[in-house]
Amino acid sequence: MPHVSDIYGSMVFNEHTMQERLPSATYKSLLKTIREGKPLDLEVANVVAHAMKEWAIEKGATHYTHWFQPLTGITSEKHDSFLDPVSDGRAIMSFSGKELIKGEPDASSFPSGGLRATFEARGYTAWDPTSYAFIKDEVLCIPTAFCSYTGEALDKKTPLLRSMAAIEEQANRVLALFGEDPQRIITTVGAEQEYFLISEKDYERRRDLIMTGRTLFGAMPSKGQELDEHYFGAIRPTVNEFMKELDKELWALGVPARTKHNEVAPAQHELAPIFTNANRAIDENLLTMEKMRLLASHHGLVCLQHEKPFEGINGSGKHNNWSICAGKKNLFDPGANPQDNLRFLVFLTCVIECVDEYQELLRMSVASAGNDHRLGANEAPPAIVSIFLGDELNAIVDALVGEHSYKSAERVSMDLGVDVLPSFLIDNTDRNRTSPFAFTGNRFEFRMPGSAVNLADANMILNTAMAKSLKDFADAMGDRTGEEFEEAAIDYIKQTLRDHQRIIFGGDGYSQEWEEEAARRGLVNHKTTADALPCYVDPKSIALFEEMHVLSETEVRSRYEVKLEKYNKLINIEANVMDRMVRRAYLPALNRFAGDVAGQIQAEKGALVGADVEEQEELLRTVLAGIREVGAQTRKLKAVHEEALAIANQQERANCYAHTVLPVMEDLRSAVDAMEVVVDREYWPVPTYDDMLFYC
Ligand code: ADP
Ligand code: MG
Repeated sequence: MPHVSDIYGSMVFNEHTMQERLPSATYKSLLKTIREGKPLDLEVANVVAHAMKEWAIEKGATHYTHWFQPLTGITSEKHDSFLDPVSDGRAIMSFSGKELIKGEPDASSFPSGGLRATFEARGYTAWDPTSYAFIKDEVLCIPTAFCSYTGEALDKKTPLLRSMAAIEEQANRVLALFGEDPQRIITTVGAEQEYFLISEKDYERRRDLIMTGRTLFGAMPSKGQELDEHYFGAIRPTVNEFMKELDKELWALGVPARTKHNEVAPAQHELAPIFTNANRAIDENLLTMEKMRLLASHHGLVCLQHEKPFEGINGSGKHNNWSICAGKKNLFDPGANPQDNLRFLVFLTCVIECVDEYQELLRMSVASAGNDHRLGANEAPPAIVSIFLGDELNAIVDALVGEHSYKSAERVSMDLGVDVLPSFLIDNTDRNRTSPFAFTGNRFEFRMPGSAVNLADANMILNTAMAKSLKDFADAMGDRTGEEFEEAAIDYIKQTLRDHQRIIFGGDGYSQEWEEEAARRGLVNHKTTADALPCYVDPKSIALFEEMHVLSETEVRSRYEVKLEKYNKLINIEANVMDRMVRRAYLPALNRFAGDVAGQIQAEKGALVGADVEEQEELLRTVLAGIREVGAQTRKLKAVHEEALAIANQQERANCYAHTVLPVMEDLRSAVDAMEVVVDREYWPVPTYDDMLFYC
């Protein structure tokens, strides 16, 4: 294998390649665009396009595509070849600045949540020079934003970029109060991706996995994760081969995949990259997910990215490690001197404020049919948003709120006077795995997102809410400077912490007591997507997005519609698949088995006068009762499913799916699962959890 450093980034048109291939003036102005967000003129784009094309052709590319993220959440691409026929019958390879900057895919086949009804179907893609172009399967992929002709964002990237701009503007205003010059400020993200690997042979025989990504049936395996033997366990050879190939492909694409290990559940694994600029980190995560799905097939495996592929076994999340970076400085790094500490405290306070103020939106940002099975189950954070700070920061917050002096476990007590704020201990931040939003020393880890999600939504909302808190702080400080500013800042911190302290929680997030305590504190607890979505279109949310220039009201409403429709369509598919699997696989198998048992009883009685067949008869009774129960639940599901489909209003339909249809789906599942452990294995029509989870 060639050296990692030789392959790393070899398929990426990164700054190194740019510098090598572009005239220095072009390189400089492109860099200005990348680093400072300065607009790019067509002249420069033409030069860049030419260099990109030459580079891509040398690497074997024949096509290019504008790579974008429509509201479906996955990525889209339409390949165009570089080929340009000339008059003498030959062809040249061409690629212009215009083609680099702008594309015109037909927008009408992508979800737009009503935007299409009022606006033109046509849309366009616009080059995002802040995320590198790369080559994937002989196609030069150019990361782009996707908008309607009237400028409404039809994708996930545009609002994310707008939210990063909002953070940059407001954080610069806050830093100016500390005497800092305007600088490039970005949010950083490190996305830990969890996933399952199962054998392709098993997968092919599971309609539910193929159609919905999760098992709609399946009794608990005889062994689960109780032995805790899988977490960080030795990686088995097939999986290891897969991981090696994945690493190699990702490194070539410049994705800094770093940590890989087995997860808690059997057949579950995780990949964590090194964090980077949020925009690029999200592009890279989408690429990682795509590569995982593709490469698994090289090893006879299937990669499951659903949040809850197996009931009763841990689901998969995607921890979103998030921070704000000003120049080279991490703003959540507590720092050593008092001046840095005050700055840290301001940013910390704004996080606490914005997470409390917009807890519903944050919950909404990770809502999906799949994630509903995860949040609140005994493994993932609960559906209630709260912040874990750790003992050290808790003590500081308590001291500030209670106006008493701060006592550190390891340090002497300190006065919270203006110029002697405590210096914190970064390394001793304790861990709490049950918290949905945890401070981990120099960043926050948002643990609610599910494995299947595009992290753009969660980050867009987090950034927007944070920008709003920073703005409120900067507005309140006005043009105060020096000690006057410091005093006002401390007062502001104390008051804001007092107002929002309820969001801080360091205990066991999985416990029943916390649910009750959270209710007393007035924290929201939306257990289903149907319950979580409406807050998107609250006047308060719309006001936030408009004030921070991240989404217009029309864009907010369209996104809400798309999420709602997606949820309804998914549950509709799940109910259909269940019905079909029961009628065409489970009931026939149960009947075959019952018939054979009945035949055996007859045969045994015939062969031996007075034969004791009580056990056999008991088994037959159990299976016949099971068949009856499965039949009854299937009819019930059909009835409530039809009831849901008859509801025209999408929100009301979602409510019906969440609260009426899903419980019946659970009952039907239980009825079938109860039979799985009774019926002869040879009769069971699909691979079981025992088969699937301990294979690789
Ligand atoms: P754990 O399993 O304890 O959560 P990991 O090492 O698996 O820790 O993942 C930590 C993730 O956080 C990595 O992707 C890492 O790059 C990322 N990270 C570290 N510092 C920052 C930061 N300042 N901003 C964003 N992400 C960060
Ligand atoms: Mg983590």
